Amino acid sequence: MRYHIWTIGCQMNVADTQRLASELERLGHQAAADPDEADILVVNTCVVRQSAENKAYGRLNELAHVKAAQPDTIIGLMGCLVGVRDPLRLREKLPQVDVFLPPSDPQPMVDFLRNRALERDTRDHEAAARAARDDLQDSLDPGAIVLPAHERGTLISAHVPVVYGCSHACAYCIIPFRRGVEHSRPVGEIVEHVRSLGRQGVREITLLGQIVDRYGKDMPGGPTLAGLLRIVHAIAEEENIARIRFLTSHPNWMTPELLDTVAELPRVMPHIEVPVQAGNDEVLRSMKRGYTVAQYRELVQNIRARIPDVSIHCDIIVGFPGETADQFQDTYDLLADLKLDKVHLARYSPRPKTLSARTMPDDVPPDEKKHRHAALETLQAQVVAEINRRCLGQTVEVLVEDQHKGKWRGRTPQNKLVFFEDDSQDWRGRLAQVEITWTGPWSMQGRLPEEAAVRTRA
Ligand code: SAH
Repeated sequence: MRYHIWTIGCQMNVADTQRLASELERLGHQAAADPDEADILVVNTCVVRQSAENKAYGRLNELAHVKAAQPDTIIGLMGCLVGVRDPLRLREKLPQVDVFLPPSDPQPMVDFLRNRALERDTRDHEAAARAARDDLQDSLDPGAIVLPAHERGTLISAHVPVVYGCSHACAYCIIPFRRGVEHSRPVGEIVEHVRSLGRQGVREITLLGQIVDRYGKDMPGGPTLAGLLRIVHAIAEEENIARIRFLTSHPNWMTPELLDTVAELPRVMPHIEVPVQAGNDEVLRSMKRGYTVAQYRELVQNIRARIPDVSIHCDIIVGFPGETADQFQDTYDLLADLKLDKVHLARYSPRPKTLSARTMPDDVPPDEKKHRHAALETLQAQVVAEINRRCLGQTVEVLVEDQHKGKWRGRTPQNKLVFFEDDSQDWRGRLAQVEITWTGPWSMQGRLPEEAAVRTRA
């Protein structure tokens, strides 16, 4: 059969989709780029803000029509809309859905397809599917990932979950309710996952966790994130994986050991994602983040002191309940001062069951949230334009991911987007030395230095 998966939301969902696709590939099914050609349709959902949840319901409405017109189509609903606690609770509300899959858990779909095959006595089909699997699929360890055929050799950057769930309970956040308690993934499984990606042409991996720097805290005797990075680094050397990243870190768990490991290991990129969420202590306290602005500032200083040329990214929520204009100004001033490389901005959205939704009125008016969001967006565009301008004339190493409008597109170690033109060879998956000739806040343009271009043409 053919399958098609829509992914809404974060990198963890992208990784979960990859895991589901891998299981479907193992069963002998194939990816369909066009959903009209698929027999299995899955929507992988996010509920971190109301807007994401609305998107999921929009897709589910369309799928109700598909199911009515073609009752044989198998419809799967995956991710945070389903949740780990009571995955079947939406069964009555969403009769178009055949299979409910909690976040990071493809098993219900695997079971459904196996049962259906038995029910319909399609042993012939199963035999054919088995024959269709290639050697690669059969040779892989059970912890490994099988990429869909069209991604093998073309997918350059992939995500690898290392911590599932979250137990921190920030006042605003629904993730712990939907992804369950924090648990680290066993090292052996991570190693197999990374190795299998490398063997299928992936050249950059990003280790994922809600609080990725807590890796191993629930596994007595196991490695910390720093230890895991060393292990993964060794695999990367063996499997030609050029770059390793990790996200998202929580300020309280970023140890000097971790920072020094990032600085030391050449394939671990100088790129830290560590959200501050707000620049005012009172707001941070009611968010239950567990640190002060001063501590965050000190951390940023520390990261910059220990990791040369580091790029620091953070998340901000504007319009948290009770956030006054002055408190917002503190956030503005903090960002103006720290000059971080990227800020993911969100307007506060009350989520069911969270502490803030239950106990704090959503009292910053929508227009004011928009205004604060826009103010930070403008500020950050200026900050990043200034940071990027310093790259002008410099030569940066770009891992090329794909081609876009006739130009090669890739990223620097700091995860900045770079475009360049060259028709001498296929750059996908390769590291190019690019001299920057133009910079803007969201991307840069460059060219291959003369000799390199001449050399590759010769
Ligand atoms: N565990 C990670 C990521 C959480 S979700 C972390 O701790 O940073 C990604 C981002 O969405 C968060 O960092 C936060 O900025 C934003 N977010 C989470 N809940 C939100 C809510 N209720 N309203 C608005 N933004 C939210």
